[in-house]
Amino acid sequence: MSLQLYNTLTRKNERLETCEPNHVRMYTCGPTVYDYAHIGNFRAYMFEDLLRRTLKFSGYKVTHVMNLTDVDDKTIRASIEKNLSLKEYTTTYSQAFFEDLHILNIEKAEFYPAATGHIEEMIELISRLIEKGYAYPSDDGSVYFHLSTFKEYGKLSRIDLSGMQPGARVAQDEYEKQHVGDFALWKAWHEEDGDVGWDSPWGKGRPGWHIECSAMSMKYLGESFDIHTGGIDNMFPHHEDEIAQSEAATGKPFVRYWMHCSHLVVDGKKMSKSLGNFYTLQDLLDRGYTSRELRYVLMGTHYRQTLNFTFEGLEAARAALQRIDEFASRLKDLVHGESASSLPDWAQHVRSEFSLALNNDLNISKARAVLFDMLHAGHKALDEGSVHASEAAAVLDTIGDLDRVFGFLEASPDEADSDAIAILKAREEARKNKDWAEADRLRDQITRLGWTLQDTPKGPKLKRK
Ligand code: AMP
Ligand code: ZN
Repeated sequence: MSLQLYNTLTRKNERLETCEPNHVRMYTCGPTVYDYAHIGNFRAYMFEDLLRRTLKFSGYKVTHVMNLTDVDDKTIRASIEKNLSLKEYTTTYSQAFFEDLHILNIEKAEFYPAATGHIEEMIELISRLIEKGYAYPSDDGSVYFHLSTFKEYGKLSRIDLSGMQPGARVAQDEYEKQHVGDFALWKAWHEEDGDVGWDSPWGKGRPGWHIECSAMSMKYLGESFDIHTGGIDNMFPHHEDEIAQSEAATGKPFVRYWMHCSHLVVDGKKMSKSLGNFYTLQDLLDRGYTSRELRYVLMGTHYRQTLNFTFEGLEAARAALQRIDEFASRLKDLVHGESASSLPDWAQHVRSEFSLALNNDLNISKARAVLFDMLHAGHKALDEGSVHASEAAAVLDTIGDLDRVFGFLEASPDEADSDAIAILKAREEARKNKDWAEADRLRDQITRLGWTLQDTPKGPKLKRK
């Protein structure tokens, strides 16, 4: 079966057919770098990582673009409050964002264009829209998209425009459906913008949020491309406006497949900065959880289902990962340098069943069930002593293969665990030097980090307590 993805535009599961053979060009709405990202944001980026990894696993070449919104009301306001230039202010958060992506083992996109580096492209796109009669400058030097000229407006979010006030305008980037109207492409400079502003044919100002994504996606991916992703809250007005701007300017279909993930919620409410019910990655690391455990949780629920975040969920992830590690460790103990041969019966169909699950609109729960069924059968076979060394090596290869998508099967060296490993090495050194007091002290330190240490004939082994 080929890859089927749910397309928000058609509200159907559809077979992926790319514009260019075997090449997926996709765009993701990235963060507004005005603060640290929270794990709700990372739910969206994890979904996109799952999609990207699945596409590659299925043999596609992927060109993925994720923008950074480094100019908007929030970034300008916060930088002025902190008495920093916009660049200084946003650099802190974009760097933190990239560090978090790395720690969470989220694969890098091919391009991360920042809005402030593409003002010229945005001005050019707005000029095209004015020339074609789809946009108009207002008296104050802003430019608006003329909504009633774009007949297909609303096709993504399926909004009803019948109650719309003719000529109504919205200056804010984010607004509710009942306020839909001509939206801002260019915002004239106001005093509260401080020294942030660019010259344009309409005077000094700055771009609206929506035009940013149209200009940057088309620059890097062409006027028509395959997949556009984001959180469900991006669908209206952001993505609806992106479609209007792009298709009005080019006369071509903008994107074939729109994909949106549902929210991560806490106690039934969307995790968000404004509600104050959020955790950052660092908050969870400080509480002793690992990025690998968080990755396991964020990937665990189908992307179109609401993900209810709880600490019990993180504990369950810890237990599940321990089972995975124990299984891998038993296999590794068996291999003894033998190379892989054919797979044992209980692992024969794992790869194909795993693919089948992902091909069904990224059914990650099913993909994980395939893994745990294998673990169950594998432990039994290992208990019976019926697994040959070369078969164990082949199963380890399969696990490595699945990890190209999961990205949590192998413990990441960036995790908090690396501390324990470093201390373990120091303890080995102390033992070699017969410094038993130091070795004991280091053992206690490892215990305090939440590990038990077993000295086995094959050397010391760390186990989560
Ligand atoms: P923002 O920085 O607010 O523009 O959000 C960046 C990305 O995170 C967007 O794709 C949002 O849809 C997504 N997002 C924000 N909050 C959540 C949440 N609680 N659950 C899932 N995705 C979210
Ligand atoms: Zn966007």
